[in-house]
Amino acid sequence: MSLTGSTLDSSSTGAVPDLSAARAHLFNAGSVARYQRVLSQGVDRVADRVAGADRPFTGVTPEALAPLIAGIDLDRPLGDTDAALDELNELWLRDAVWFHHPRYLAHLNCPVVIPALLGEAMLSAVNSSLDTWDQSAGATLMERRLIEWTAGRIGLGAAADGVFTSGGTQSNLQAMLLAREEAYRRVVGAAATRPARTEVLARLRIVTSAAGHFSVQKAAKMLGLGSDAVLTVPTDAGRRMRTDELARTIDRCRREGLVVMAVVATAGTTDFGTIDPLTQIAEICAAAGVWLHVDAAYGCGLLVSPTRRHLLHGIERADSVTVDYHKSFFQPVSSSALLVRDGRMLRHATWHADYLNPARAAEQGIPNQVDKSIQTTRRFDACKLWLTLRIMGPDAVGALFDRVVDLAAEAWQLLDADPRFQVAARSQLSTVVFRYLPDGAGPSLTDEANLHAREALAASGAALVAGTKVDGAHYLKFTLLNPETTVADIAHVLDLIAEHAAWYARASSAAELSCPVG
Ligand SMILES: *Cc1c(COP(=O)(O)O)cnc(C)c1O
Repeated sequence: MSLTGSTLDSSSTGAVPDLSAARAHLFNAGSVARYQRVLSQGVDRVADRVAGADRPFTGVTPEALAPLIAGIDLDRPLGDTDAALDELNELWLRDAVWFHHPRYLAHLNCPVVIPALLGEAMLSAVNSSLDTWDQSAGATLMERRLIEWTAGRIGLGAAADGVFTSGGTQSNLQAMLLAREEAYRRVVGAAATRPARTEVLARLRIVTSAAGHFSVQKAAKMLGLGSDAVLTVPTDAGRRMRTDELARTIDRCRREGLVVMAVVATAGTTDFGTIDPLTQIAEICAAAGVWLHVDAAYGCGLLVSPTRRHLLHGIERADSVTVDYHKSFFQPVSSSALLVRDGRMLRHATWHADYLNPARAAEQGIPNQVDKSIQTTRRFDACKLWLTLRIMGPDAVGALFDRVVDLAAEAWQLLDADPRFQVAARSQLSTVVFRYLPDGAGPSLTDEANLHAREALAASGAALVAGTKVDGAHYLKFTLLNPETTVADIAHVLDLIAEHAAWYARASSAAELSCPVG
C-alpha cells in the first residue's frame, strides 16, 4: 500500500498522454528485441559515416549549426527513431570531428579500439553504478583488479590503491585534495597551538613546471588555495622541469614559512610530450618530505609499451599518479584513474552516508568504491579497459602507442630537414611543435601566418592541427595518436600548411605595399 494513498490508475494520469507507448521505450525483458534493433540502427549510422569520412572535419562553423540546433522544438518529439537519427545526422554526425581519420593531428584524442566500444555499449545498458557494491557487484571487483593492475605496472607497491575517475582533471584534483589534507594534518600535528584552518591553507603551495597542465591551477582554486598557490618552475631546453630550480623553490618556501604540499611532475607534457626527470624529482621530494604527484595523463601509454617503459623510470616513487586511459590506451572518453602509493590516503575522500555507505559497511569489509571517490554515482568505465585487455592484451595497446611515438620521431626528422619550418623541443612521446617561417617575415607576420594556416586548414577540413605558444610565439602542434597516420599524411599536411601560410604572408606584404600605414 502506498504511504501517500495515491494510486497508479492510468485513468488518473491525464498529464501522460500514452503511458503504454512511453513504457515501450524502457529497456527491460520485454523490450530486448527493440533494444537490439534500435541500437543497431545507431551502429549502422556511425558505421556509414566512418566508412564515408574522407576528411577529419567538414569545416562547419558554429554560425551554420547554431540556428539548426536552436530551431529544434525539444517539447515536440519526432517519435520515430529513424527520423531522430536523420536529424542527429544533420546536427552532429555529418559534421563531427573524426579522431580515427589519419589527418586528425590536433589534440590528445585517440582513435578508439573496438573492444572498448563494445564495453561502452554494454556498460551503459546495464548501467551499473560503481559507488557501492549493492549497485555494481562484480563491476566493483573488476575495477579494483584494474586499479591493482595499473598500480602494479607503475610499481607503487603492495599498499597501493586508487579509483577510476572522469578524466585527468578530476584525478589531479583528487590527488591535490589528498595532498592538501596530508599537509594540513602534518602542519597541525607539528604546531604547539592549533592554527586556524584558513591560516594553514593560505600557506600551502603546489610546485609544478611551466609546462605542467592547467588543471593543477584549477585544482588549487577549487581546493580553496590562493591564486598564487601554484608555483611554476622553469623548464630546461628540452621542456623538462629544472630540478635545480625545484630544489631552490622548495628551499625558498621553507625560508618564507610556506608549506609545499605537493610537487606535480608531468610524465608527458600536453604540448611537448616531454617527461620530467622523475627520479631526481623523487629524490628532492623524499628529502624535503613533500608529496610527489606524477601527472601521467598522456605518458601512461608507456606503461604498456614493449620498448619504452624505461622512459617512466622513477614514477614508481610517486605518492600519487594520474593516468588517462582515454589519452593513450585508445579508450573512449571517459576512462581515467588516480593511483596512490598508500591506499589509506584515500580516506580523505571518504564520507559515510547512512543511506548509502554507512561506516558499518566499511567495517564489514563491503567494497564500496564511493569511499575512495569524489564522485557518487559513477560509470563502469573500467569495463572498456577490461575488455580491451582481455581481447587485445596490453602488449597490443602498447604496440599501438609505440607506433605513434615512432611516427612523431619521423615527423620531427621531416620537419628538422625542411627549411620552411622551425621545430621546438623534441618530444619523448607523440607531439611535434613547429612553425612555418615565411621568407623574410618578422615575428608578428610569422605569428599571423601560422595562425592563419591553422584556421584555413580547419575550414577546409583537409586536416586538423593544434596551436600553442612557445615563449610567446605562435606555433603549430601535431598530436599524433593515430597509428594509421603515415609519414606521407604528415608530409602532405605540411605542404598544405606551407601553402596557406605562404599565401597569407604574401597577401599581407602585398597589402602593406599597396596601402602603406601612416
Ligand atoms: C589531458 C591532460 C590532463 C587533463 O585530463 P582530462 O582527461 O582532459 O581531464 C591533465 N594533465 C595532462 C598532462 C594532460 O595532458
